[in-house]
Amino acid sequence: MGAKDAKLSRLIPKFHFCSVPLFREAPLINWTYTDAVLFTAYDVFRSHDFWLDEVVSSGATLKKALVDLGFPKNNSLVIDTGVFEMEAKKAGISQEIGIDVDIELTNAQIFEAYELSGADFFVAPDEIVLPTDKPNIIDEKIDLIKSNLLELLDIVPASQVVAVIQGLEQTLIESLLDFYRENGIRLFAAGGIIPLYKHDKEVFQKHLKYVRETTRDDWLHIFGLPRISLLSYYLHDLNVDSVDTSTITYLTKQRMYLRGLKPEPVRLAKFEECECPGCTILKENKSSRSPEFFSNLYIHNIVTAVKECFKNGALSSKPVILNTEDDSIARNPNSSVKPIEVADSGWMTADEVLRARKRG
Ligand SMILES: [Zn+2]
Repeated sequence: MGAKDAKLSRLIPKFHFCSVPLFREAPLINWTYTDAVLFTAYDVFRSHDFWLDEVVSSGATLKKALVDLGFPKNNSLVIDTGVFEMEAKKAGISQEIGIDVDIELTNAQIFEAYELSGADFFVAPDEIVLPTDKPNIIDEKIDLIKSNLLELLDIVPASQVVAVIQGLEQTLIESLLDFYRENGIRLFAAGGIIPLYKHDKEVFQKHLKYVRETTRDDWLHIFGLPRISLLSYYLHDLNVDSVDTSTITYLTKQRMYLRGLKPEPVRLAKFEECECPGCTILKENKSSRSPEFFSNLYIHNIVTAVKECFKNGALSSKPVILNTEDDSIARNPNSSVKPIEVADSGWMTADEVLRARKRG
């Protein structure tokens, strides 16, 4: 496994190759837009795609099968459980964030998918601690998170594991981080973010600032981008290292075109004003119902979001620390943390996008 060369990127889009054949074909399979993409164990079990069955029965890993189709070998594949997708259903927000959940996975199934994946990075299975959870429930969830991590470390080296920070209490977060660090983990992610965002925007901001502060020498990822415009807040204001998203796929499916971080109906787009590879094709090809249209609109949206990740003089992504002796990573000393806009100008949830489309 080329884990030593594996990199994470600031934006880690969800790569829907298990269930959407377009992701296994050119141009998307020849992925050059980010250094890392994400998929979930949940996708593996949800998919009824014949291609997946063939790969499983061939004994190859999913990464190898993707590379055989043209996926760049040095691009990192990150696997997550998809627990969030299942939890979101329970929390009644799955529709709003554009996912529909019909199965729940056991840990055994999650580990089965992980072993099959050939991934470069593995997100430790976690439990989402909700802001409203009672202390005894939180304790149970944290115990489970810890035992899941130990189980994962039986099959994956610590340098390839992303451990998830859950809970709101600072003492709880500190003890969880101590546990992770004792086990050699240096890649962390903030979890439970979308329920928290929905619960209380002020607590959400305070929590993320604290988590960033307490992991300042480590890689910090955020799970969940409830609004595309939060990308800028996460990466530039909080100065976290990376964020994953399926919002770009969702917006593309809704035929939205990103202008900066503002989604607009694609019929308003001026493809000739953008030089990205997607728009170069879109300005020639007028058939907006073709699969190529989806791929190229998706490329435009990804390229635009990635551009936003590097705006404001932000650092390009720092190297992922795979060697735990090396902690000499310089962090941006100029991180200025300012409050996010709670006013909704220019920010759209998936729901709002849908409503705007109906009106448009
Ligand atoms: Zn474009």
